[in-house]
Amino acid sequence: MKINRLIQRFRAWQKHPVQYSDQGLEEHRCANCGHIYTGNFCPVCGQEAGDKRITWRLIGQNFLNAWGLDSHSLPSTLMQLMLRPGHLIGDYLDGRRRASFPPVNMLFVVTVGYLIIAQLFDISRTEHLTYSETPEKYAIAIDIMNWFIDNPAWGLLTFTLMFCIPTWFFFRFAPRHTQHTLAEGVFIQIYMATISIICTFISNIFSNVLGLFIILITAYYYVTYRQLFGYRFWGTLWRMLLAIAVAFWLFVLAIVITVIVWRGEKQGMVPRLFKPILIITVLLSAGYFISRRTAEKRRTAKDNKS
Ligand SMILES: [Zn+2]
Repeated sequence: MKINRLIQRFRAWQKHPVQYSDQGLEEHRCANCGHIYTGNFCPVCGQEAGDKRITWRLIGQNFLNAWGLDSHSLPSTLMQLMLRPGHLIGDYLDGRRRASFPPVNMLFVVTVGYLIIAQLFDISRTEHLTYSETPEKYAIAIDIMNWFIDNPAWGLLTFTLMFCIPTWFFFRFAPRHTQHTLAEGVFIQIYMATISIICTFISNIFSNVLGLFIILITAYYYVTYRQLFGYRFWGTLWRMLLAIAVAFWLFVLAIVITVIVWRGEKQGMVPRLFKPILIITVLLSAGYFISRRTAEKRRTAKDNKS
């Protein structure tokens, strides 16, 4: 029974992590400058309204603030990103931004932090791909993959940004955050890039197996999309898997185009472009039209009820 209560409290926290107290319309006198005002903060000097006495709670808050651990700090936002990723991103899209550390800054700090720790402890030693048994025309693709292994942060950011397009197509008609814009999609993936760097870090600590990373990041994409867009189990799962497939083929397409541009090989390249473009188009339109149909069904079911 106790565990059930804990889970309930955790779920409630996931939805509303920060409680703001409102001092209401009552007038009070600022303890610092003497100005009479209503609200949570003095408009003249900025001191917070409330009890003048020094309490244990105040001491605790002061110590947390000294370490930069207040509610919208980086550590607190990272904890939220790990424990309520979809709700945190949803809050940000809905304009509840005060509770979150700015996402681009967070990606930057986490990336730099990861690179420093990886250097110090020598933990990110993924083997380079080798050219053996590779046809010569794919050699540059190996070069590109090795560049991503050497620059994991750029690689992960590129790969997560590939998710903007399938996410935009498949989750347009979602129960929550309907019709999200591409710009919002970019922000979603910036948060996901931060998560993927943390997942790389975790999987590098335990082992250097790519498998653990893939399990972690897939699980995080599932949980995030479920919390953010509000589809149920299967609805989230198939859209997510389809999005992964599209992101993979977009990645392939980007590599093929890079090869063409770098090498200036135009002969025989059009058929190689054709296959990924065809697959991407088919997957995108299938996911889009199925999602639109289910949204229409949901709407008619709702209309029939009322
Ligand atoms: Zn004041």
